[in-house]
Amino acid sequence: MSHQTHPELAAAFTADTERTHWHDGALWFVRSKRDRAARSIPEWEQLRELAAGIKAHTMSRLADYLEQFEQNATRLGAVVHWARDAAEHNQIVHRILSERGVTRVVKSKSMLTEECHLNPYLQKHGIEVVDTDLGERIVQLRDEAPSHIVLPAIHIKKEEVGELFYQTLGTTAGSADPQYLTEAARHALRKNFLEAEAGITGVNFAIAQTGGIVVCTNEGNADMGTSLVPLHIACLGIEKLLPRASDLGVFLRLLARSATGQPITTYSTHFHGPIPGGELHIVLVDNGRSHVLGQEKFRRSLNCIRCGACMNTCPVYRRSGGHSYRFTVPGPIGSVLAPARDPKEYYSLPYASSLCGSCTDVCPVKIDLHHQLLAWRGELAAAKVLPWPKRMAMRLAGKVLGRPWLYRLAGRAGRFTLRWLPRWMVYHRLNPWGLQRELPPMPRQSFRQFYRQRKS
Ligand code: SF4
Repeated sequence: MSHQTHPELAAAFTADTERTHWHDGALWFVRSKRDRAARSIPEWEQLRELAAGIKAHTMSRLADYLEQFEQNATRLGAVVHWARDAAEHNQIVHRILSERGVTRVVKSKSMLTEECHLNPYLQKHGIEVVDTDLGERIVQLRDEAPSHIVLPAIHIKKEEVGELFYQTLGTTAGSADPQYLTEAARHALRKNFLEAEAGITGVNFAIAQTGGIVVCTNEGNADMGTSLVPLHIACLGIEKLLPRASDLGVFLRLLARSATGQPITTYSTHFHGPIPGGELHIVLVDNGRSHVLGQEKFRRSLNCIRCGACMNTCPVYRRSGGHSYRFTVPGPIGSVLAPARDPKEYYSLPYASSLCGSCTDVCPVKIDLHHQLLAWRGELAAAKVLPWPKRMAMRLAGKVLGRPWLYRLAGRAGRFTLRWLPRWMVYHRLNPWGLQRELPPMPRQSFRQFYRQRKS
């Protein structure tokens, strides 16, 4: 089955010019806040350096730290499960819930459960899952995927949220007041919190030394969703490990500032074992991470702390929207992670980048994103997974760009051709290159005039 590529999906998004500008501006606002927050800390670059070093060290001894984490978490009373892939993760979560007869669950934001498609799996087995993060709830009510890992509903305008809540929550028709809509969502979610029998959360950091886990939210929904129920299931990717409790401060300072420009996330909640009389199950998920760990060129992508800063700054992401990536994690980091999962399906993503390097500049854990995107292009070309027109175009471009005289000649030929080519051929639907361009009007010249002009 052929899947839609990034350019095809991006074209659908950019067809709405007004929305594209609005989306671009909204994300640039967050990026600017991040810049101000980063500049407010003189030791910002040292923190980034330290974070990258801690992550590199952790990844080099990941197996040891995972075992240490399991021992300490078990000592604190948690039950640790290991899932090889998404299917195993979903089966484990379902088994824990069904053994206890749970049919209603509240979930706080977790990109891992999105990656594993947990919601549809549980719903298929008769378990109702309600996302409690406001942005996640909005996209859940619209029956669509998040378009950003920190701001899941960034592609939706407040007027559209007003219409959605009018249809689903019974708010006043035509109201787009953010405070009113937020209060309406809170009111509706309160019932879900009170009726839930279990809470599922993601995990931002897991500490090998203590066996504790840390969940960061701005809305306190993870705290509410786990303190009212006797069963807490925490799902985490194996790359979320940190060796020591003292490492945490470095990452908490970087995470909130990079994500939204806040000095600190509103709630950074530490869980050390279950609540009295309750159960805490921790599901450690691999799902392709060990494979990435074994690839030297791409190993550093596992350092990601999912702050979203590379998305907010990426000129391609800002103008093409998160859904155009068709992967749980969009933007530059998603374009590195996705081909590792399935090179054939996601071959177009490493090309969804101008390679400007802005993603690398803002990444708090110093992942060399634009180098990795370039490396993926080489891997995909060598594996021959690119469609043949793209392969031919790349080969031709390589030959032209490698010979300055040929490059100059091609430039002149191109300008001459454009001057003489009938406009209907330039803007023909069979020529996607021309369709996306507004060429400046060029006066017609004879070849002799053109040639003389070039010589003079
Ligand atoms: S790659 Fe870096 S900037 Fe992008 S989400 Fe991960 S940590 Fe943040």
